[in-house]
Amino acid sequence: MVEYAKPVPVADHVTREFWNGAGRHELLIQRCRECRAYQFIAQSCCRGCLSENIGWVAASGKGKVYSYTIIHRPPTQKFAADTPYTVALVELEEGVRMMSNIVEIEPQEVRVGMAVEVVFDDVGPAIALPKFRPA
Ligand SMILES: [Zn+2]
Repeated sequence: MVEYAKPVPVADHVTREFWNGAGRHELLIQRCRECRAYQFIAQSCCRGCLSENIGWVAASGKGKVYSYTIIHRPPTQKFAADTPYTVALVELEEGVRMMSNIVEIEPQEVRVGMAVEVVFDDVGPAIALPKFRPA
């Protein structure tokens, strides 16, 4: 593997399960054990009912492009070789929205409402970034 020069996620006590799952190529989201609501991003309590009784479940990995933008000017030189690339808000089947990249498609071909599925970009030992490709 070529050394990955871009920033990698740093897990904390709230996000550790998510990043451990991603490292195993599992897309995990939180689900409240009280009101059954799904949530992403990870939080220490439910945004719906404020319960701290929250667990993790495997998401289907399937969703739709809710919105997107095409990045032409890299935020740092480490992203320069990637431009143009797509940053999207993907709405999963479970209803939560996740910011990520749309890959395996030219940016100008991406459309709102397009069906996508998760793929994992391995960027280091047990570190993988969930991204989405056309389904
Ligand atoms: Zn709840």
